[in-house]
Amino acid sequence: MLRQGEPGFEEARVDRIFNRRLTDRQPAAVVRPASESEVVDAVRLARSRGRQVAVRSGGHSWAQWSVRTDALVIDLGGLREMELDEKTGIVRVSPSTKGGAELAPYLAESGRFFPGGHCPTVGVGGFLLQGGQGWNARGWGWAAEYVVAVDVVTASGELVRADATQNSDLYWAARGAGPGFPGVVTRFHLQTMPLPAHFAHTVQGFHLDDFDEVMTWLHDTHASVADTVEIVALTKTDVGISPDPILLVTALAMVESREEADHALAPFRANPALDRAVLVVDNQPTTPEAERARQLEDNPEGHRWAVDNAWLTGSAAEVVPAMRRAYTTLPNAQAFTIWFSMAPLRELPDMAFSMQSEIYLASYVLWESPADDERCISWLADAMRDLEPVTVGQYLGDSDHTRRQVKFMSDDAWDRLQKVYAERDPDRLFVGYLGDSVNANHWA
Ligand SMILES: Cc1cc2nc3c(=O)[nH]c(=O)nc-3n(C[C@H](O)[C@H](O)[C@H](O)COP(=O)(O)OP(=O)(O)OC[C@H]3O[C@@H](n4cnc5c(N)ncnc54)[C@H](O)[C@@H]3O)c2cc1C
Repeated sequence: MLRQGEPGFEEARVDRIFNRRLTDRQPAAVVRPASESEVVDAVRLARSRGRQVAVRSGGHSWAQWSVRTDALVIDLGGLREMELDEKTGIVRVSPSTKGGAELAPYLAESGRFFPGGHCPTVGVGGFLLQGGQGWNARGWGWAAEYVVAVDVVTASGELVRADATQNSDLYWAARGAGPGFPGVVTRFHLQTMPLPAHFAHTVQGFHLDDFDEVMTWLHDTHASVADTVEIVALTKTDVGISPDPILLVTALAMVESREEADHALAPFRANPALDRAVLVVDNQPTTPEAERARQLEDNPEGHRWAVDNAWLTGSAAEVVPAMRRAYTTLPNAQAFTIWFSMAPLRELPDMAFSMQSEIYLASYVLWESPADDERCISWLADAMRDLEPVTVGQYLGDSDHTRRQVKFMSDDAWDRLQKVYAERDPDRLFVGYLGDSVNANHWA
């Protein structure tokens, strides 16, 4: 254990934090357990010393949820389990496992797949607890829907299994409460799926002058596309295509054959602006590895980041103009904005994750110099403000409640979570949400 002020404390505080626009919040100490029983010891120690507990798995939370004032940080980077049961297809994984860089290649060796986060280095811990928007979430659902059980150290320092039949309140909360989960998950039991045999993508690039026409068409089309296709429309700068930012409509089919991909991707050939496209890739085979490598390029390490998001609802005439600032005025050449289809909306199982809409929009701003902080952060705030009239809520995964309070779960789920706290963690050993979250849209 490293206490505040001791040599090595600063590294332990933030060395595994992805967002290098580092918070100055100072925990009391950081502990790095090497086993599950050491996690139990750490929770008991915090309790006996009257300290709150914060947890770190992969360190990718944009808001740095694991770096909490005066808390004992339990950094789970030392737990390294990954074991597939070939009979059931259930894999047991430690929370700091990197979903794309570690779990995906391990499962692929056995012909299995798990819809982990897009960026390969995201830890499964924070990702799954907040819902998990993995590959083809519109068709396959939230990654948390594949959690069949969690092993949890509770506030009383007990190690328990939580699933549909035992400790089911914790199982419910572990699928959506995110940083508000009252416990330390030491192991996830995940149902895997067969690895799709064929990956193929269609990519269409447009100048931003075509933004309104292309996005209006996509708004009215996406719900009818086959549920094997992930649909993302993003604006980014790719100097290989154009010196100015361009709008890319991307469709990734995860299917069994080239013919199936051809059929699934066919609706994109009806894009009315296609004759003005500056780039057209049509039903080209790709691989999960290539897709993950592209994600790594877009999400480089060592940068300062500000990220925010919104669940959008409304007609194209309402939504498309509200998105213009986020899409057509990016503050620098590295920033990007994504529109991620979730349509047609699937019904959610009974879990804490309970806020979504047909369109997910997130803006990612990254830069290097602290001198750019204010400009980049205020651009993001303006872009999100424009979206408020068509925003129903947001996804915890790309949120920062110290900057903006937005609703992230249903009212019923929020009330139920308060009951879980009353039962499981009445003294609030676990730090919970950052920024006094009240689960409400601040403008409402
Ligand atoms: C480059 C990048 C790409 C991303 N891409 C995606 C994406 O495609 N889809 C998506 O859904 N999200 C994505 N995210 C968001 C990401 O899923 C969240 O930030 C998530 O919280 C990261 O999990 P982590 O374990 O790495 O983070 P951490 O910062 O370690 O964890 C976040 C918080 O979750 C809680 N927590 C984590 N593990 C445990 C545990 N074992 N027990 C109890 N509480 C725990 C704690 O409150 C912790 O502070 C991305 C983030 C980045 C930086």
